[in-house]
Amino acid sequence: MQKNLSFEATCIDITTEGFGVVKYEDFVIFVANLLPQEKALIKVVSVKKNYGYGIILKLIASHVQRVNPKCNIYNKCGSCTLQHCDYELQAQLKQQWAATLLSEFGNVEPLIKAEKTERYRNKIQVPFKDGQLGYYRSRSNDIIPFEDCLLQSALSNEILFFIRDYLLKNDLDIYFRHLMLRHNHDESSYLIILIVNKDISKKLNELCALLIAKYSIIKGIVLNINQRSDNVILGDKDIILYGIPYIEDELCKLTFRIGIHSFYQIHHQQCLKLYNCIAEVLKPQKDEILLDLYCGIGTIGLSMAHKVKELIGVEIIPEAIANARHNASLNKINNAQFYCDDITKNYDKYLNDVDIVVVDPPRKGLSNALIQELNNHDIKRLVYVSCNPHTLKRDLKLLQESYNIDRIIPCDMFPNTNHIECVVLLSKA
Ligand code: SAH
Repeated sequence: MQKNLSFEATCIDITTEGFGVVKYEDFVIFVANLLPQEKALIKVVSVKKNYGYGIILKLIASHVQRVNPKCNIYNKCGSCTLQHCDYELQAQLKQQWAATLLSEFGNVEPLIKAEKTERYRNKIQVPFKDGQLGYYRSRSNDIIPFEDCLLQSALSNEILFFIRDYLLKNDLDIYFRHLMLRHNHDESSYLIILIVNKDISKKLNELCALLIAKYSIIKGIVLNINQRSDNVILGDKDIILYGIPYIEDELCKLTFRIGIHSFYQIHHQQCLKLYNCIAEVLKPQKDEILLDLYCGIGTIGLSMAHKVKELIGVEIIPEAIANARHNASLNKINNAQFYCDDITKNYDKYLNDVDIVVVDPPRKGLSNALIQELNNHDIKRLVYVSCNPHTLKRDLKLLQESYNIDRIIPCDMFPNTNHIECVVLLSKA
C-alpha cells in the first residue's frame, strides 16, 4: 500500500472509534467521517503494517442520515467524531457498538438517549501552545484553533477567548499550557483555572480584575502550576488568585462541591438519567450496606444514601474525598464514610460485610486483583458503570465466574462523539 494513493471505494463497516472501513484489494483503510454504504474517493494519508488511514477527497454517494457538521473545524479537530450523523444515526451506531461488544453477556437494552446534544459540557480544558488556543488535531499534537466549540456553552467560549486575547496582548501566553473552565448546570457559577509552567501570579492581577468586573458569574480563579514533562493536564500546586477554588452544583436534589482536581460527570441531564438508572437496577434496600468504589466526590453513593443503612465510598484523589466528606455533611447525610485509597491495591478492608457495590472506574477498567476479590466476596448485587465498553467486556468475562449478568444498559453521555457509557447489573450466581 502506498501513501497518497487515491481510489474509489464503498464503506463496509464503521469502527467503535467512528472510522469508516474500506478495503483496497485486501488492505484495510480507516477513513474518518465516512459512513457505512457510503461511496467515496479516498486518499491514503498514512500506512502502517497491516492497515492505513485515509481521508475523503470526494463523497460520491452519501448516507441518508448524513448531516452537514455545524462546526467549521470538524474535519481537523479530533473531538466530535460523529457530528456528520443525525442524532438518530448516532444513537443507532452506539446501540450497534454496544451490542457487538456486549451481547455475548445478554440482552443489550435500548440506549438512554440525550435530548441536549450540543453545548452540554460543564468542564472544558483547552491546550494553549505557541500562542494558539484550540484542540488537538486527531492523532497529533498540532493545535487547531476554534471560533465556537459546540460542545461548550457560548459563555465558556467567550470567556476563553477573552483570556486568550489578554494573554496574547500582554505577552503572557508563553507561560501557559492549558485553560480550564468549570461551571454548574445553570451557569450561575464559573471557576477559571489557568494552567501555567511557573508561578506568574504577580503578573495576573489585571487579568483577574478585568474578568471579575466583566463576568459576575466567576466565583473563583486559580493558578495551577504544572512543570511535568508528560501530558497530564493539572499540576499539583494551586494558587488561589480570586474567590473560591471549587464550584457547587445541584444534582439529584443534593448540593455537591466540586474541586479542581475532582471528577464530575460533564453532561448534567444525562448524568441524572445515568444515576437514576443505577438506582433503578441496583434497588438499594434499607438494611443494606452500599460500597461506592471510584466514588469521586461521592455523587453516586450520596444520591442513594437515604435508601441504605450505610454508605462507604473509596477514591484515590485526596481533594475528591475531602469534597465527598463535605458533600455528605452539606446534605445532612450521616450514614456515609469516605476513604482515600487506591482500590486496585487496597480492597480487603472495604469488601467485607458490604451487601451491594457500585464500581465506576476510569477507562482502563478494573484491576485483575480487584475482580478476584469481587468474585471471592458475597456481594448480592454489583453495578458496573463503565465509560469504555472494551475494558468492560474484558472485565465481565472474568466477573462471570461468580456473577450472573442481569442487565446491560448503554447510555449516551457524550453526544456527537463515539463514546458510550454502560450500566451493567450483576448478581451473585
Ligand atoms: N463515581 C464518580 C467518579 C467516577 S470517575 C462519579 O460518578 O462522579 C472515576 C474515579 O475513579 C475518579 O474520581 C478517579 O480519581 C478514581 N480513581 C481512579 N483510579 C483509582 C484507584 N486506583 N483507586 C481509587 N479511585 C480511583
